[in-house]
Amino acid sequence: MICRSADKEYLPITGMPEFNKLSAKLMFGSGSPAIKESRVVTVQCVSGCLSLRVGAEFLAKHYHQHVVYLPEPTYGNHPNLISAAGLTLKTYRYYDPKTLVLDFQGLLEDLGSALTGAIVLFHACGHNPTGVDPTCQQWEQIRQLVRQRGLLPFFDCAYQGLVSGNLDDDAQSIRMFGCDGGECFVAQSYSKNMGLYGERIGSLSIVCKTADVARRVESQLKLIIRPLYSNPPIHGAAIVTAILKDRDLYQKWTNELKAMRDRLVQVRRQLYDSLCNKGTPGDWSHIIKQVGMYSFTGLNKDQVDFLTREYHIYMSSDGRINIGGLSSKAVPYFAGAIHDAVI
Ligand code: PMP
Repeated sequence: MICRSADKEYLPITGMPEFNKLSAKLMFGSGSPAIKESRVVTVQCVSGCLSLRVGAEFLAKHYHQHVVYLPEPTYGNHPNLISAAGLTLKTYRYYDPKTLVLDFQGLLEDLGSALTGAIVLFHACGHNPTGVDPTCQQWEQIRQLVRQRGLLPFFDCAYQGLVSGNLDDDAQSIRMFGCDGGECFVAQSYSKNMGLYGERIGSLSIVCKTADVARRVESQLKLIIRPLYSNPPIHGAAIVTAILKDRDLYQKWTNELKAMRDRLVQVRRQLYDSLCNKGTPGDWSHIIKQVGMYSFTGLNKDQVDFLTREYHIYMSSDGRINIGGLSSKAVPYFAGAIHDAVI
């Protein structure tokens, strides 16, 4: 047991201070100028979902532009969480279902013509549901466009470490925006990368232009959190803090994270090889090009229905699968079923 704490006291409204400090460092990096200049406010929230919701509530109350652009497609709960705060939803092109890759041109066009000051939601890494992320160079182009157009970036970081196996590399998109002097929101979750789903542990960080603004933002966040859930749960924060502050536990965690990520890559490769060996019609290389926990298989609704009916394989009707839920043992059966569905 790494966390022996039997303390069940209430936490402060903004959560455990040490957890907040360590979480900010994990996302923005130890050398972050924004952290050094006290321009980052981090508050512990009820996992990724409520971090998004608290951020959206703050924007609805204090930000002049109430339009949020979401990637098309996006995590199914994004529209609910953001519209519940009273913000208006629009989408930007992200994924091209014909080529099964990032629609980078479409993304640039849509953000280039977005309403001035609009909020733009980005998946920091491991885009759910497509498994398609921009490259570092593309992120830099996106950053320049966002800053030129005065858009407000809001990152959702639910898979840090599970894409490259390295926590720093997976935070690159956030760090680009976090160190350019501009404002930026980040909702973070430890559900996947620490396997703490049921603890509901995550954080919201807001990078502000000055330390004075950051102090004011923090006090406004308290006013938003207090009537929503009063204060966040303690146990998950104690677990995360114990891991992040202890060198040995941190090392153990990052090793396990890398092993989980390597397994995802290996299962992708195994599925791809099985389909190639069978001569299943089509180009399946997207399965190994996509990253993180999710894969958009490219199967259509009829093919997904076929898999369910004939093989008792259950997946989202849009063809998305969670690679983490596929065991190596099950890959031959799954590949055989896909083969039957497409021929
Ligand atoms: N963002 C994304 C992109 C997700 O995929 C998820 C969960 N699947 C979440 C946020 C929220 O997860 P949680 O509330 O458990 O942190």
